[in-house]
Amino acid sequence: MPDIAIIGGGAAGAALFGALLSRDTSDAVHWVTGSTPRIGRGVAYGTSHDHHLLNVRAAGMSLYPDADESFVEYSARSHAGSRPTDFLPRQLFGEYIESQLDRRIRNAEQHGRRFAIVPATASGIQPSANGYEIVLDNGGTLTAGRVVLALGALPPRPLRTVSKRALGSGAYVLDPWSLTARPNRPRRLIVIGTGLTAIDTVISASIRWPDVELVAVSRHGLPPFVHPALPIDPFPQQAELNAMLLACDGPAPVLAEIRRTFHEHPHVDWRSVIDGMRPINAKLWQTFTPRQRKQFLRHARWLWESARHRVPPQSAEIIQQLRDEGRLQIHAARVLDVDGEGPLDVTVRSRDNQLVTTLQSDVVVQATGLDTAAAFAEHSLVSGLLRDGLASADPLQLGVLAEPDGRLINAAGEIQPGLHAIGSLLRGNLWECTAMPEIRVAADALATRLNTSRADCDELPELLVVG
Ligand SMILES: Cc1cc2nc3c(=O)[nH]c(=O)nc-3n(C[C@H](O)[C@H](O)[C@H](O)COP(=O)(O)OP(=O)(O)OC[C@H]3O[C@@H](n4cnc5c(N)ncnc54)[C@H](O)[C@@H]3O)c2cc1C
Repeated sequence: MPDIAIIGGGAAGAALFGALLSRDTSDAVHWVTGSTPRIGRGVAYGTSHDHHLLNVRAAGMSLYPDADESFVEYSARSHAGSRPTDFLPRQLFGEYIESQLDRRIRNAEQHGRRFAIVPATASGIQPSANGYEIVLDNGGTLTAGRVVLALGALPPRPLRTVSKRALGSGAYVLDPWSLTARPNRPRRLIVIGTGLTAIDTVISASIRWPDVELVAVSRHGLPPFVHPALPIDPFPQQAELNAMLLACDGPAPVLAEIRRTFHEHPHVDWRSVIDGMRPINAKLWQTFTPRQRKQFLRHARWLWESARHRVPPQSAEIIQQLRDEGRLQIHAARVLDVDGEGPLDVTVRSRDNQLVTTLQSDVVVQATGLDTAAAFAEHSLVSGLLRDGLASADPLQLGVLAEPDGRLINAAGEIQPGLHAIGSLLRGNLWECTAMPEIRVAADALATRLNTSRADCDELPELLVVG
């Protein structure tokens, strides 16, 4: 049974599904989309708020490398006056995804292509005589020779410093995107985190409750840096720099080399240097030893994430205005404890003077970024794969072990035939694999691989089952 199953109804699933539909093959494609009513949009593009902006310019956001209609063309039609250099609303990109999927589906139907969209959640995967049996939460099952996990980030886990009482109070919000559906107006709202999700959360809360007092707390208190209003010229010596970076032994010399470049080229916008590293980031990460990766995560991740994943100028202006008006405070502090039944007591230790203080807040929102800790995830599909030895957790909790092309590595340390992943589950191998520019390329390459090679299926009798 050579059929292909994609599990996960977000943008990565959409990019792969569309890429597979455009290939000429008799294999059926089953797309298990989960419970989402807005197939293909996922967490990022399922928003219905116009102030949630893309952090990539329109010109960088297409669904397929060979899209029939680029996002720029689509937005010029539907969003009058938009330009390729704009940071457009994420919901517009969600509409674009749907329009592109529609086209590929209609085309596939015309060509008698076999496919099914299955609106169910996959709760388990078991090896079977014909490949894998996928167990669905609607009571059904599916069989496929090749399975791709496009699950996005794993369900967020509460920080260890949050008490059970606080979690049960209803005042601690684990899913920042559900915040503005709350009926009651808080007087004070604390956001834990100062990254892109925290910025969106603060902006949404300030619009929903214009007189709420907002506090954002993170260890370094560093919000993302800001994109320039218009694209900047590439750094002329980027190729030489990238070659030098790839020859460095670990993150400390890499950072030193980048700093030296900034110092020697004071007239070059530092952001062009960081952006110019994009083609080598995965390779660079792969040159780090496990110890060096750990060092990077501990000492440099916060700074890298702020410099690399920048905020659009419009969002930065709103944040600045909120700070100027005294409506938003950003603290560099470690959260020591969150307790209470609502309002909650949030105890923090300041980074500057080590002073410990307790702030009271009606609502506390956890916006600490993607959770990729597969070993600890409350996700029955992922837990089952780990338990059965079909997949292994990345030791640094960056998804699962895999080859760079997405083939999963099992508990015996071997490639598990027919099992693949795309997107954030691959962070341990690729580091940067979660944004559209990387996802669409990965989806296209995976579609070609799944379509041209059935070697995986031939190897299926040797599936490993542990426990
Ligand atoms: C708020 C936010 C803003 C972003 N903005 C940008 C941007 O501007 N530009 C950019 O390039 N990137 C952006 N990103 C990165 C973004 O992660 C990717 O662009 C893309 O949306 C990732 O899609 P995904 O399908 O991997 O994950 P998701 O969107 O998380 O989709 C995964 C889907 O799989 C489903 N699922 C999980 N488990 C199962 C299961 N067992 N069975 C069935 N379904 C399951 C989930 O419910 C979910 O719907 C943003 C990310 C976030 C979170």
